[in-house]
Amino acid sequence: MKKILLALLMLVSLNLRGTVIPARSVQMDPQPAETAPTVTVLPNPFQPEAAGPEETGKVTESPVRTVDPSCPMVALTFDDGPHPVYTDQLLDILEENGAVATFFEVGQKLSGAPEVVRRAEKLGCEIGSHSNRHANLGKLDPEALEADLTAADAAFEEVLGAAPTLLRPPYGATSKALKEESGRSIVTWSVDPQDWKSRDAEQVVAHIQGAGDLDGQVILLHSPYESSVEAARTLVPWLQAQGYQLVTVSELITLRFGDTLEPNRLYNYDYFRRPPALPESAA
Ligand SMILES: [Zn+2]
Repeated sequence: MKKILLALLMLVSLNLRGTVIPARSVQMDPQPAETAPTVTVLPNPFQPEAAGPEETGKVTESPVRTVDPSCPMVALTFDDGPHPVYTDQLLDILEENGAVATFFEVGQKLSGAPEVVRRAEKLGCEIGSHSNRHANLGKLDPEALEADLTAADAAFEEVLGAAPTLLRPPYGATSKALKEESGRSIVTWSVDPQDWKSRDAEQVVAHIQGAGDLDGQVILLHSPYESSVEAARTLVPWLQAQGYQLVTVSELITLRFGDTLEPNRLYNYDYFRRPPALPESAA
């Protein structure tokens, strides 16, 4: 019982840190508590002492979605937004399918489409930083790095009320300072269909459908392309039909890998490609 409570508390705190609540939302959202997304997590096999079925569903009476940690899950991620049209269309697709994704947004783009970022958060999507100017953070000296991250944080705070703890560096480029001193959880990806390059929805879909077992994987896509929206329109229901739960990056790390999100830690290809830890109860 204690453990399931801890797990739930962890998830709630993740939700607060990863998909931040708009603190300045009084004018724009008079009832944020009623629209905040809720997630029910079924008993976590990583915590075998968790209580039985009678304990499930206690988190909320009307969950927006349910995550079963014992079933396959995958995280769709979209970089380089927000885009006022295509991000909104991506959210339509996610909402229609009861799915979520993680959006790594560029700080200086936020003011151009603040509403879609708020909408993403309300739908239970996770928002991460993708730097302020989409610079190669791995090449910035510590002062310039700090300046970029701080400027991005300010942009997120302006729109969402808080800054994300997740950071996906543009191009996946990291540095010692970024990995060890930025105070962020650095997240890259494990499946890359290069949608920005081909701009071809069919090719993107084919890449992911041919990528083998996707359990525990983080798929990299980009918000500003119509072709990527079209790919998502096919992929979201296809992934679900294959039995994958679409979760946020934080949910993937905590529920698939039984891990914690820590600052100054890199979650990259090698991390997501390792075999998912088997729950103790598994044969
Ligand atoms: Zn990017």
